[in-house]
Amino acid sequence: MSTDLSCVTDRSAFWMPFTPNRQFRQAPRLLVGAAGMHYQSDDGRSILDGTAGLWCVNAGHGRREIRDAVAHQLTTLDFAPSFNMGHPLAFELAARLVAHAPHGLSQVFFTNSGSEAVDSALKIVLAYHRLRGQPERRLLIGRERAYHGVGFGGTSVGGIARNREAWLGSLLPQVAHLRDTHDLARNAFTRGQPTHGAEFADDLERLIREHGSEQIAAVIIEPIAGSTGVLVPPRGYLERLRELCDRHGLLLIFDEVITGFGRIGHWFASQQFQVRPDLMTTAKGISNGAIPMGAVFVHRDVHAAFMQGPLAQIDLYHGYTYSGHPVACAAALATLEIHEHEDLPARAAELAPHWEARAHALRGLPGLVDIRNYGLIAAFEFAAEPARNPTRAFEIFRSCYARGLLARPTGNVLAFSPPLTINRAQIDELFSILAEAIRETP
Ligand code: PLP
Repeated sequence: MSTDLSCVTDRSAFWMPFTPNRQFRQAPRLLVGAAGMHYQSDDGRSILDGTAGLWCVNAGHGRREIRDAVAHQLTTLDFAPSFNMGHPLAFELAARLVAHAPHGLSQVFFTNSGSEAVDSALKIVLAYHRLRGQPERRLLIGRERAYHGVGFGGTSVGGIARNREAWLGSLLPQVAHLRDTHDLARNAFTRGQPTHGAEFADDLERLIREHGSEQIAAVIIEPIAGSTGVLVPPRGYLERLRELCDRHGLLLIFDEVITGFGRIGHWFASQQFQVRPDLMTTAKGISNGAIPMGAVFVHRDVHAAFMQGPLAQIDLYHGYTYSGHPVACAAALATLEIHEHEDLPARAAELAPHWEARAHALRGLPGLVDIRNYGLIAAFEFAAEPARNPTRAFEIFRSCYARGLLARPTGNVLAFSPPLTINRAQIDELFSILAEAIRETP
């Protein structure tokens, strides 16, 4: 039988997400292997992974422990439904995750992605208020420049104009947005948390005045906004938001899809910032990106509202065929063990000062209007040039790739979030490749 090789080179069938597909096909970037801190490209080059894939491979690539756990699970129990049935790994994983979660977040609802986690969390808060006899609490408050995935719920509370405009008029109707916390005039080139901007949380009072607190179900924010260019919360901002939510009976959801699982030096950002949400959405690092998975962590008081009524009544009319998929659970358990044994959150915390120093050493390079960082995250913002397409950030991303470094372009920003297994020499290498690429991309 002859093999039709045209299917290998014809790349027209795969409609790539969030990608200029026609442009990509003119000069494809293909990754064909990965181990440790590096990808291998199809042209045989080693590419330093500056972005943990897409913010997900926190324990580094090709982890034998995960591979073995997945292989074992596939041969033992490839699939089991979670509707009215169960399998041991899902219960074990939930219990072990809760042990690392912020205090009180004692229940775990599994999903397959961050988008599903966000939509699940939004549904849970709406159902919660209904169960408590406050069905009028339906307004969901997101924030400008937020990314909460691509479900209709996440797109609605998200604050990226481009992601919303194709569906305007068809998104969730009961949504409002806080202003974002980006303040270059006062906070440019801040190391860690900006000093100015706690008062941006008071924007919630504007929305409360406008809509009435009794109409509002929840506020959802990323503790550190990732996909829209890394916005670190100003000192005092999260605390103030929590205070306002408490005062007005609003639930607070932290979307920790990016900040979770060690990225900023603690298991979760809420522990680092010492502000506890009522619900927390996660994905990505939970299974090291090896098998898709997400999870919503729910505070026991919120969960308790669902555990009433007749015993035979379903308590949440929501779930996915693959909620708690055995193979994803196996990958997540193996990932959890790596995080525990290697104490990856502590490793991130230990490397963070070096990371910060090396990132900020690039200050002064042409076109840079800000450098910001937290934990093992850094972002480089370039002066806006509205007429330029692609953006300078995107051109620098391409130049980094040509030089052997994977970066993440988003608007005028280049973001970095390497596996937490990176070492100091690799941090130095990453920023020196970036510096070269910036200098040579006028
Ligand atoms: N929430 C946040 C904060 C994210 O950064 C992302 C993805 O980057 C998502 C949700 C969506 O996750 P997924 O792409 O797994 O659906």
